[in-house]
Amino acid sequence: NGENYENKIVKLDESVINKIAAGEIIIQPANALKEMLENSIDAKSTMIEILVKDGGMKLLQITDNGHGINKVDLGLLCERFATSKISKFEDLENIATYGFRGEALASISHISRLSVVTKTSESPLAYKAYYVNGKMCNANFKESGDSSIEPKPIAGKDGTQIVVEDLFYNIPSRLKALKSKSDEFGKILDVIGRYAIHTGHVGFSCKKYGESLQVLSTRPGVPIRERIRTVYGTSIASELLDIELDGSLAYNKDKHNGNENENENESICHTLGLIKVSGVITNANYNNKKRVQPIFFINHRLVSCDPLKRAINSVYQFFLPKGNYPFMYLSLEIDPKNLDVNIHPTKREVRFLNEDEIIELIVDKVHSILSSVDTSRKFKTQS
Ligand code: ADP
Ligand code: MG
Repeated sequence: NGENYENKIVKLDESVINKIAAGEIIIQPANALKEMLENSIDAKSTMIEILVKDGGMKLLQITDNGHGINKVDLGLLCERFATSKISKFEDLENIATYGFRGEALASISHISRLSVVTKTSESPLAYKAYYVNGKMCNANFKESGDSSIEPKPIAGKDGTQIVVEDLFYNIPSRLKALKSKSDEFGKILDVIGRYAIHTGHVGFSCKKYGESLQVLSTRPGVPIRERIRTVYGTSIASELLDIELDGSLAYNKDKHNGNENENENESICHTLGLIKVSGVITNANYNNKKRVQPIFFINHRLVSCDPLKRAINSVYQFFLPKGNYPFMYLSLEIDPKNLDVNIHPTKREVRFLNEDEIIELIVDKVHSILSSVDTSRKFKTQS
């Protein structure tokens, strides 16, 4: 009768769904590396070693000395929404770990060949397991549907080693869209460097496959200036100023609207909640034509906060010659209740309450630090 009763809408295969989801989280090798670094830090590691081949496309290997994974948990390790970090939605409001969605390893296992060797201090042996499409499999990385596959006992040290091979092997379009191996390696190094600056209790090292020289290496527990010198060099490290802001800050709206002379008692104050800022910024002696992207961590998450970056850069315009850029590392701690980390698949963007007011406070502080140094220098040269 000419009508077409064929279904147009079909439910996608779970494997297709998982591959799409994986592609949203892992866009380039550096994204996979970041997730695995965070897992190692969550696992209380103090040393993390990274080995990279072909910009991470061929091999990404992360070895840590953290608490390891129990053998009984290995079956679920790469299953989507399987996590040891939260158990109910309310936990999200007080999240103290990087991970919480149980998505990273699942995603990576859908777009690469993933294997794990792990040992807890309670276990006499390490265990090795292979994964493909979220499930444990045999060493050939073929999905078998065999549920009797068991992790293999082997000798090993406490901690976890995750090996990711042939990333994006089954997404040719993604592979084509990637930049050169050395560009991708550069992004990997950039992520490691940022974590090495912020996570001072952990040592990081990174090598290229087949080379004995470490491209980056920091020791755990060394002071911030030494970490910055190791990662970014002496020219930055020798021109740093500390920035600290602490406490529960009440923000006086009237003052900032220029109504300072009005009745103090009637000024509208509202509290911004707990906010703590610490970090280092370069002084006006440091001027670099090369732009080093600012390092911002909010509640220990590496984020890019363009409004904050723009605001601070504009303060520096008063102090630096035109076309020169500062270096800055800021760690913000704000009330977890005021922070939403769950707005973006890569968790790179976060939202927080009172963003404008908090940025203004930081900008004021940066301004006062830079100008106080500026005047002290003038005094020195005069005497
Ligand atoms: P999430 O970090 O959101 O929980 P992941 O997929 O990144 O999800 O990791 C899944 C689980 O695997 C974690 O909850 C954790 O229990 C375990 N895990 C992953 N990496 C490590 C590691 N390096 N050391 C110990 N446990 C790990
Ligand atoms: Mg994780």
